[in-house]
Amino acid sequence: MINTQIAIIGGGPAGLRAAIAAAQTGAKVILLDNSDHLGGQLIKQTHMFFGSQQQFAGSRGIDIATRLATELRQFRNVQIMLETTALGIYEDGVLLVEQDDKVRKIKAERIIVAIGASERMLAFPNNDLPGVYGAGAAQTLMNVHGVRPGHRVLMVGAGNIGLIVTYQMLQAGVRVVGIVEAAPTIGGYLVHAAKVRRAGVPIYTSYTVKEAYGNGAVEGAVIWQLDEKWAPIPGTEKDLAVDVICLAVGLSPLSDLLWQAGCQMTHVPELGGSVAVRDSLLCTTNSQIYIAGDVAGVEEASSAMVEGQVAGLGAVLSLG
Ligand SMILES: Cc1cc2nc3c(=O)[nH]c(=O)nc-3n(C[C@H](O)[C@H](O)[C@H](O)COP(=O)(O)OP(=O)(O)OC[C@H]3O[C@@H](n4cnc5c(N)ncnc54)[C@H](O)[C@@H]3O)c2cc1C
Repeated sequence: MINTQIAIIGGGPAGLRAAIAAAQTGAKVILLDNSDHLGGQLIKQTHMFFGSQQQFAGSRGIDIATRLATELRQFRNVQIMLETTALGIYEDGVLLVEQDDKVRKIKAERIIVAIGASERMLAFPNNDLPGVYGAGAAQTLMNVHGVRPGHRVLMVGAGNIGLIVTYQMLQAGVRVVGIVEAAPTIGGYLVHAAKVRRAGVPIYTSYTVKEAYGNGAVEGAVIWQLDEKWAPIPGTEKDLAVDVICLAVGLSPLSDLLWQAGCQMTHVPELGGSVAVRDSLLCTTNSQIYIAGDVAGVEEASSAMVEGQVAGLGAVLSLG
């Protein structure tokens, strides 16, 4: 059994900031992440961030991850455990983790859950064909592993993620044949939309995917228009020859650990789905468990960092 005062699950911007805030007070901290790097989503974000100067606006996501990780590594009271997956949180505050195919126990006085969100799927015929990707997965392939997801892409969703990943695909030499957006207007920043339009990518608002087709992998997609009640209009189909359909249709907080730990949960559509009920210091209804970042409600890295700081300080404060 490993003993610590604060255990933080997730080394994205929320978890990193929580760990730094807690470590600065002298608390004994463990930060664990199931991947082999710190930074969470930031490590694939090669674009400059918007937002406030205090939250690194104007820096690239990947550089923010490096700065936070470097700052955290200076603390001797912090233990970082990578490739370590949190499996469950039990009544006595014991956190069960898996590392190197072994299950280990961490006894923490406070636990901060900062595990982020997962990409949503879209229902349409043949959405299980190879070639249907989440936008985050496509971004990881390109920006982390240097692999193009395909040659001709249909992007689904014109929010910021769909627009940014479209632009990054163009930078990687991938042809994006169009972006479909079910809503009548573009959801992302117009500056991003203008960039992809200037590059010749059409944005079809009030359109969705009717079906994908292909023999063993995506070879094309049929899209169709939606009326003002979001019902498809027969006869408006367009057939697009693509080998990738990339879904940027939103994220949902990864709530499983919090459900399992018995925290009171509530459904808030504006926050992306099920989130834990929390107080102003981000303490859940289980007084040992705090939350921060996308798991507390899908927002952005800047708010994840602020929440991480609040949760880190709140957890230490509660130790007395
Ligand atoms: C394409 C794109 C562009 C974006 N652009 C911006 C932008 O310009 N500005 C901005 O502010 N935000 C932006 N965001 C949003 C931002 O990336 C997220 O809001 C932010 O990363 C959330 O931080 P987090 O720490 O909550 O979660 P994450 O960054 O997702 O980190 C969670 C970490 O927890 C780990 N984890 C998950 N489950 C477990 C487990 N069971 N055990 C151990 N570890 C686990 C994961 O591996 C991950 O490392 C963008 C997002 C995308 C996808």
